Amino acid sequence: MSLIINDDCTSCDACVSVCPNQAIAAGDVIHVIDAARCTECVGAEDSPQCQLVCPADCIVAGAVESHDQLMAKYKGLHA
Ligand code: SF4
Ligand code: SF4
Repeated sequence: MSLIINDDCTSCDACVSVCPNQAIAAGDVIHVIDAARCTECVGAEDSPQCQLVCPADCIVAGAVESHDQLMAKYKGLHA
């Protein structure tokens, strides 16, 4: 699944630099994840790097996608 950021985000910026797909950016109020770029870190890491560093625990499950879909998305982004 791609992940989403909920309203507990403090816009601390910690997650932005750890994303292998440059999927996270500052929004109007909280940071946002571009679902078209989030692969749940499939293709690059063993686990979602943004969740590991987020001090607010505000990055949660979004739309469900299969591992194959996530890998295909990753390959598309890094072709
Ligand atoms: S799960 Fe991985 S790819 Fe998705 S936003 Fe977080 S760091 Fe980026
Ligand atoms: S690390 Fe968590 S609190 Fe900080 S900007 Fe990212 S989602 Fe928001």
